[in-house]
Amino acid sequence: MPVHSKIKLAMVLKEVEKPEDFKTFEISTIKDSYYSSTQIEIAKFISTYYFSSLGEALGLFIPRRRLPTHQDVKLEEISEKKESLNGALGNAPYELPKLSSDQEKAYQEILTKDRSLLFGVTGSGKTEIFISLMAKTIKEGKRAIFLIPEISLTPQMQNRLEKYFGNRVVMWHSKLTKNQKDRYLNAIYSDEIDIVAGARSALFTPLKDIGLIIVDEEHDDSYKSMMKPRYHARDMAVYIGNKIGAKVVLASATPSLASYYKYDVIRLSKPFIQTKKRYFFVEGTTLTNAMIKRLNYNFKTDEQSLLFVPTRGNFKYLYCQKCGVTHLCPFCSVGMALHRNVRHLKCHYCNYTEAIRETCTHCGHTPLTSQRMGTVEAKEMIEHSIPDMVVEQFDRDSITTPSKLKKALKRFEAKESHLLLGTQMLSKGHDYANITLSIILGIDYLLGISDYRARERAMSLLIQIAGRSGRAKSADVIIQSANQDFFELYLNNYEAFLKDEMFFVEDMYPPFRSLARILISHLKEDKASKVTLDIVTKLKEFKEVEIVGHGKAPIERIANKFRFNILLRSEKRSTLLRALHYVNNPAIEIDMDPVEFS
Ligand SMILES: [Zn+2]
Ligand SMILES: [Zn+2]
Repeated sequence: MPVHSKIKLAMVLKEVEKPEDFKTFEISTIKDSYYSSTQIEIAKFISTYYFSSLGEALGLFIPRRRLPTHQDVKLEEISEKKESLNGALGNAPYELPKLSSDQEKAYQEILTKDRSLLFGVTGSGKTEIFISLMAKTIKEGKRAIFLIPEISLTPQMQNRLEKYFGNRVVMWHSKLTKNQKDRYLNAIYSDEIDIVAGARSALFTPLKDIGLIIVDEEHDDSYKSMMKPRYHARDMAVYIGNKIGAKVVLASATPSLASYYKYDVIRLSKPFIQTKKRYFFVEGTTLTNAMIKRLNYNFKTDEQSLLFVPTRGNFKYLYCQKCGVTHLCPFCSVGMALHRNVRHLKCHYCNYTEAIRETCTHCGHTPLTSQRMGTVEAKEMIEHSIPDMVVEQFDRDSITTPSKLKKALKRFEAKESHLLLGTQMLSKGHDYANITLSIILGIDYLLGISDYRARERAMSLLIQIAGRSGRAKSADVIIQSANQDFFELYLNNYEAFLKDEMFFVEDMYPPFRSLARILISHLKEDKASKVTLDIVTKLKEFKEVEIVGHGKAPIERIANKFRFNILLRSEKRSTLLRALHYVNNPAIEIDMDPVEFS
């Protein structure tokens, strides 16, 4: 329709009476795409729960496409085609993976549940179970969505899926070219696709008759969108599954505490391939000569190694080298960040501040440090000491595109490089069959960051990284930590960790309490501050909503704008939502169920 004399594309949400008090135009043409009523309902939920406009929420979805004209004829043709396809599929001997008795047991149990959490150690053969579930779904005339974190969308995964499902599976992600996207969409529209595997956005493709949604690596934070609408794809998968009557299977070797608490857990404990792993704990915070020697030995004996260096966050924390304890906020149990220029420590949840300490409150050791080693320093040290060793740097600075990831993995697989050196990225879903030595530096740092899930994130990360080695052969894992007791206790028993962790978060954090964060940013600091205070005043009317803290955000400025935030907590989600809708306005951004607090 013409708006300011331009033809605009719009969608019709509902039919209304022609208004009398202003002029309207006729719709000039009708496109053949549309949103189904289910898509619109889900978008409405997203816009209400995650605080976006309906347009922004609908923008996540790819519309359906209407059948061409002469519908009757076409419909007949299509149903015939479908029958012949179904027939073909029915007879097509999908070379299904043979399940071990443990896998078979888990598979049968999943079949009895609408929603479940498959909790299986790395290498326990979850993928075979997924493939069996997908094949069964297709046999029943339905389709499947398989969500994996973007970084795990590797050629390895693609090959595995294509081996079973041929060209009836597409890999859907944000880096597709327009051509690829159009080709895949056409295939989806003409019902030639049974499985869409992909990152977050795969959830919103126009695939019809979905009978199964799998969310692999469900603990991964990349499922949470950091832009409006700030939805969590795992939680949306569960919501959508409920809505359309599809089975939902979440899976992880280190499930999130929230999912472990909320869903029926199905255990798959025995690794598919039994290998031996030896763990060694060492103290310190940097790469030592002994470690370099050990790396060199592995290199000389033609074996491959992995070296993990924790990501350099935006903040430093005061850390005790002796007992490995980071100084925590007494009210929030999260690490207090060091603001050296103003010489104080600050809690980024409640804004409590105190003077910089010299002595560890836990063991009395002096002085406390805030030093950590980065990937660049580690790489330089190794290349200096072992000149022939080829180091593959694996972090966001070096692996910037899917093709770079592909190439790095290929070189490592072909043994052209000998050491994978990197950050958190190393922990994500790749198989490196030949790693026999893993060194994990400075893991204690992660225990003390200002995040209520710091322990969960550190423990899960350690298990995921350790799980990358010893896939085919036995391996040594060297862990640099002064918290040996903590890590050792749970290293082979993540479930025990989850059970204990529940006590820590019980009266403070999700899944027992709902959290929301309000972000305010403005070019003028006083304006941002005023908006914040106004919102806080309004929020005080809601007695059941606790204002944990408010003030400057941990990262005080981005793109010239001053950032303020308010952290809220409530026992009841509905109360929190009511308060947030009451204060919501265009000057603020609301992050429901936040996973990131900078
Ligand atoms: Zn100490
Ligand atoms: Zn605090």
